[in-house]
Amino acid sequence: MDDVIIIGGGVHGSSLAFHLAEKGIKSTVLEKGVLAAGATGRSSGLVRMHYDLELESRLAWLSFQYFIDWKARVGGECGFTRTGFLQFVPADQIEEMRANVALHQQIGVPSILIDQDDVRRLAPHFFVEDIVLAAFEPESGYADAYATTNSFMEAARRQGAKLVQDCTVTEIHVNGGRVTGVSTNQGDFSADIVVNCAGAWADRIGKMVDLQIPLTSWRHDTMFVRRPKQVGPSHPTVIDNVYKMYFRPETGGLTLVGLEDNNPLGDDPDSNTDHAKDGFVDRAIDRICQRVPAMEEGSLHGAHGGFDGLTPDQRAILGKAGPDGFYLQCGMSGMGFKLAPAIGACMAELIADGVSQFADISPYRLSRFDEGDLLIGDHNYGDFWH
Ligand SMILES: Cc1cc2nc3c(=O)[nH]c(=O)nc-3n(C[C@H](O)[C@H](O)[C@H](O)COP(=O)(O)OP(=O)(O)OC[C@H]3O[C@@H](n4cnc5c(N)ncnc54)[C@H](O)[C@@H]3O)c2cc1C
Repeated sequence: MDDVIIIGGGVHGSSLAFHLAEKGIKSTVLEKGVLAAGATGRSSGLVRMHYDLELESRLAWLSFQYFIDWKARVGGECGFTRTGFLQFVPADQIEEMRANVALHQQIGVPSILIDQDDVRRLAPHFFVEDIVLAAFEPESGYADAYATTNSFMEAARRQGAKLVQDCTVTEIHVNGGRVTGVSTNQGDFSADIVVNCAGAWADRIGKMVDLQIPLTSWRHDTMFVRRPKQVGPSHPTVIDNVYKMYFRPETGGLTLVGLEDNNPLGDDPDSNTDHAKDGFVDRAIDRICQRVPAMEEGSLHGAHGGFDGLTPDQRAILGKAGPDGFYLQCGMSGMGFKLAPAIGACMAELIADGVSQFADISPYRLSRFDEGDLLIGDHNYGDFWH
């Protein structure tokens, strides 16, 4: 019998296994494919603290401390690359951005407002005529989501955790209102605690215990372009709400581009993501060339997609729900990679001690949707992914 069964071997299942192991709690991660087969393996890996919700910035900041000190805190590699991070917003959201940067500074996040000339100096190849102010986080960048997950899992295994791959959970056992284990294609596993870390499949796992999780699948495609020489060896990581896209450098002289709009909702998360959807590449090329005109000389390297679970307020669902011993760590809504270290730490505390001291994650409870207590930033930028 295990202490804890974790359903899903993405960055969240692995982070939780690691943090439980640090507390001497043994877990078994059951993964229907291979480690990082879901959203994690396709994640763009942006690591920044710029959010319009204070709690999210706090969790990102706590997680950031892991990314910059990975070897000592976890071991192995996370591939963190510091590029500096720029946030661009449309002119009518400048005041929101000012307020958000002030909030980030209060938390301790290195973030400042810079003007058009500063952006031009940081990124000489960007078109900046439409940028009056930008938020700049000099320490931020991106990490390698696969390496991050793998090293979390390796560190967890060194301390007694188990990973079972090609293992699909088909049923959750409940007896007298308590979970007692799961059935899988590789037999039954028993535990008093079961955690749903199943990403875009988490609503299906919820149904196994008659729990409705308000989650829809969110498909997100990304494109890699080979940068022309004149753009230089690197550039900052950027979220560009003006052109509804983000982009960052990738190794090998590539730039990764993702779009904030037209991410299909409700598709089967098991559908093929080896290729981007029709029309995505044309739209992505058009936008990156508007912001970085020299990219006209670049060439397409490849494009693919992934699925995450999206909630009604586009924030995670964390905590106990349903039968005793059942926990949710899902609904990451396209932003869960950078938060995974802190969320894993919080969830491990919640499971071990009944409360999370690391950060108060109670605002992320499932019941907020019924209570009408959605997570919306005080100076919010509106729906991000629509
Ligand atoms: C293309 C893309 C780009 C992204 N970019 C960023 C970014 O730049 N920054 C950021 O912070 N976030 C980003 N995200 C979001 C982030 O990657 C996800 O929020 C995060 O990886 C989710 O991790 P997870 O462990 O919750 O889910 P997943 O990685 O999806 O893991 C869930 C796992 O559960 C398994 N599973 C499902 N059902 C079962 C079952 N019945 N039995 C056993 N196993 C099961 C799946 O196979 C899967 O491996 C991006 C997402 C995508 C798709």
